[in-house]
Amino acid sequence: MKVSFPHMGYSYLAFKWMVEHTGHECIVPPEPSKRTLDLGVRHSPEFACIPFKMLMGTYLEVAEMGAEMIITSGSNGPCRAGLYWVMHQYLLEELGQPVKIVALEPPLCDMRDFIGKLRLIRKTGGISTKQLIWVLQVTWEKVKAIDEIERHSHEIRPYEIGKGDTTRAFWQALEMIDAANSINEVRLAYREALKVLDAVPQDNSRNPLKVGIIGEIYVVLEPSANHYMQIMLGEMGVQTDRSIYLSGYTKKTTIYDLEGDLYTVAQPYLNEAPIGGHGANSIAETVLYSRHGYDGVVQLAPFSCIPEIVAKSILPTVSRDHDIPVLTLFIDEQTGKAGVQTRLEAFVDLMERRREVKQKQSTIARRLVI
Ligand code: SF4
Repeated sequence: MKVSFPHMGYSYLAFKWMVEHTGHECIVPPEPSKRTLDLGVRHSPEFACIPFKMLMGTYLEVAEMGAEMIITSGSNGPCRAGLYWVMHQYLLEELGQPVKIVALEPPLCDMRDFIGKLRLIRKTGGISTKQLIWVLQVTWEKVKAIDEIERHSHEIRPYEIGKGDTTRAFWQALEMIDAANSINEVRLAYREALKVLDAVPQDNSRNPLKVGIIGEIYVVLEPSANHYMQIMLGEMGVQTDRSIYLSGYTKKTTIYDLEGDLYTVAQPYLNEAPIGGHGANSIAETVLYSRHGYDGVVQLAPFSCIPEIVAKSILPTVSRDHDIPVLTLFIDEQTGKAGVQTRLEAFVDLMERRREVKQKQSTIARRLVI
């Protein structure tokens, strides 16, 4: 069968490998573009959030490319994401697209459904259960390696001497992971990929500002949805840390339940948790970034996303209590790269001035003590 999946950051490389090794032909989803968004906007309800529209556009593009099955994830709410795939399937049928969406629900919520859908993927691809387990293990190793490489690229980018060197090295590193075909090969490629990144000429005398990126999972993970914000900030000389990576998220919703810790941190500001999506996380992570000495936080919120709107209404209090500036960027189909860049530049100026004032204050305090 011709199988595709949603495009979410660089993880598409791991899922491409997974589909190809489950006996299917992979239709690699194109990176979401203006055309993807235009298609999604045209065929989605007006007030659907941007992830819904972008996925709708992606599904229509892969359907045009011949996809017969789309594998995606479900969700157990309480926000509307859990019903997305039902709506997408309905809209695709209305548009006469013969594509079947297979949504994998979190196994801790419905193990039988999860296993049944994996069996469907395995049987239509004609592979054994043993092969499927091996494919899933290698895929997971690739997802983790891709996440770690990306995380490292954001760490070193503010130190790069030549603009764009880190991004070029990052793509070279991704190619190495892409070429690996077993767990051992992925681990070896990962070690070599880190060396490629570390070989980027750097100026280690710099002291970059540190910014935490929080918000809704899709717009945080998909660079084309947030206008490559982390790369933009890195090239402005800012080190960014992202609260969500696919390997962390998947682990959290499949094997571990770490939400309890975050809810405890968010609890002074939020009596009702969870509030859906990553709303509670956004509050807790702002507190945590402040505790870890970050200079600021950027919240990425899809327009009309209720969990992030709730978080945004609470974040000014969190910002005041924990002395950390927060910039909220609402993202919809009208958001443009130039607008995002202008707001980020202003935010970077603000953080630099705060840092200078704090340094002057601590110098004066030290002199007074002496
Ligand atoms: S978290 Fe927000 S953007 Fe994501 S599906 Fe839910 S409402 Fe939509």
